[in-house]
Amino acid sequence: MNKQTATKNLDDIISRVEGARLRISEHHIVKIIGISKYSTAEDIETLYNSGQRAFGENKVQDLKEKMATLEELPLEWHFVGTLQKNKINNLIDLNPSLVHSIDSLELAQELDKKLQAKDKKLSALLQINSAYEDSKSGVKPEEAVFIYKEILDTCPNIKLKGVMSIGAHSEDEKLIKESFKTTKKIYDELTPLGAKYCSMGMSSDFELAIACGSNMIRVGSTLFKD
Ligand SMILES: *Cc1c(COP(=O)(O)O)cnc(C)c1O
Repeated sequence: MNKQTATKNLDDIISRVEGARLRISEHHIVKIIGISKYSTAEDIETLYNSGQRAFGENKVQDLKEKMATLEELPLEWHFVGTLQKNKINNLIDLNPSLVHSIDSLELAQELDKKLQAKDKKLSALLQINSAYEDSKSGVKPEEAVFIYKEILDTCPNIKLKGVMSIGAHSEDEKLIKESFKTTKKIYDELTPLGAKYCSMGMSSDFELAIACGSNMIRVGSTLFKD
């Protein structure tokens, strides 16, 4: 990807985000995370030079390699993939800005135990499977508030900052919207408990996600396209 393409991709996304967020409110700020899982460190650097700072990966090993290659740049790294228990220590050592994908109470407690052992803290979101899809990770919507509170109560080394969802895998916009609204409703219940981020929306559905209240989008293919 050349610099010109990177700048155009980023500008296009920013104007679409601007349009979508201003339809809600001028005070509604949306953070853009560039998901670089199918892209090279070189492309990340090109996008950095166009002004993008926050990037996310879905595999601990890929995150480690890209962070190492790009360590000179002041990037903000996110982890958005399913976290396997045997990768927890590696992830903690990388110290990402935000882990979007805490998908069970059990995983949270395992993570907390390992954080305590290393005397470290980590910011994270609770992933909600708002479309009830077997192919997706996350807690069930009706259990989300309870599990969120359990994590707050039992995992002192996890700084819980909100929720994450992947929109329904469907061509039917109504279904996708419904899944986003489900997550937003839970997020609203959790803001009195300190939730700050409602991470939802990807390349194909981020404007809809913002319309439903997302304040953090994760865009991969649209941002990195040639
Ligand atoms: C890959 C991925 C994205 C980005 O997907 P695009 O459709 O390429 O924008 C966002 N969130 C998660 C969790 C992902 O794994």
